[in-house]
Amino acid sequence: MDYLGRQQKTLELMRREKVDALLVTHLPNVCYLCGFTGSAAVLAIAGRRIALFTDGRYTAQAREETRGAKVVIAKGPALTAAAKWLEKSRPKVVGVEAEHLTLSLSSALKKLLPPKARLRETRGLVERFRIIKEPGEVERIRAAVVLGASLLDAALKVLKPGIAETRVAAEIEYAARQAGAAGMSFDTIVASGPRSALPHGRASDAAVPRNGFVVMDFGVILAGYCSDMTRTVHVGRMPRQQRQMYEAVREAQQAGIDAVRAGVDVGRVDAAARKVLARAGLGKYFTHSTGHGLGLEIHELPRVARGVADVLEAGTVITIEPGVYVPGVGGVRIEDVVVVTEGGCEVLTPASKELVVL
Ligand code: ZN
Ligand code: ZN
Repeated sequence: MDYLGRQQKTLELMRREKVDALLVTHLPNVCYLCGFTGSAAVLAIAGRRIALFTDGRYTAQAREETRGAKVVIAKGPALTAAAKWLEKSRPKVVGVEAEHLTLSLSSALKKLLPPKARLRETRGLVERFRIIKEPGEVERIRAAVVLGASLLDAALKVLKPGIAETRVAAEIEYAARQAGAAGMSFDTIVASGPRSALPHGRASDAAVPRNGFVVMDFGVILAGYCSDMTRTVHVGRMPRQQRQMYEAVREAQQAGIDAVRAGVDVGRVDAAARKVLARAGLGKYFTHSTGHGLGLEIHELPRVARGVADVLEAGTVITIEPGVYVPGVGGVRIEDVVVVTEGGCEVLTPASKELVVL
């Protein structure tokens, strides 16, 4: 991982945006910039000085993981120590991550800073660098995605009418840990029967009905990187309407994948998937965006959504996950992770999308 290159880019951007100092409080950004993975830290950048502030629990870990930044073990809150450290370079404008700083920390910070310094809200400053992945990051995501895809078998082994959704989720999560995952990248979704019409139906104690769709959406964290995939299967007799729904979503998902290429804006990818569902008369049931970036976090930029003009670049990793949710009938979603290339994309998810009827 090119931590020094990332720090260099941040310094350049700070100069361009006329920010003298920056306090990075969002932990995935801290990790991205210096490699530290602990659960409490502030990375402070002032001039060319960079320091990581954490506490005594992380003395050994911080020294081992941190690259390109001085490690300071703070006695009190890390943010207080970081603010004090900034004094020496007399910054006039101190950037903070507006989306990741509570109101109370922001007021505390104002009191801690030198009298002449003022806070400047920044948004997505580090997140923007994270959109394009380094080859080493793509390999980690690929490994997470491959592990994630292997969990579907564990789910299908136990999935049958009468079993609780949480039991299916438990099989997925147990298999993930057995395979070496550090954890799940979000709460596992297992939504069956009428609940499959809930786009974010977390596994509940509801039993899988005799007939209906089962949407399973899950991901793991492996070596710091997230995976994310959705497959929908059907249990019991399948009416024609449901079969058409599944095929329409599958076609829409393929159309989304086919639209991905460096130089294309994400709004066009979204439109490609949306068009297929509209043509099938299901447009109004596709109630979310087509996908999202992922990496250190499960949801990253870009948002692959209607009207978004961000242009895809090679090395960006996104999901393609259209779905339809018909109240009272059920829902279908299919999700893969793809990496953008100059000529198109590579689908990282190695799992079939053929309709499975159990
Ligand atoms: Zn998902
Ligand atoms: Zn997703």
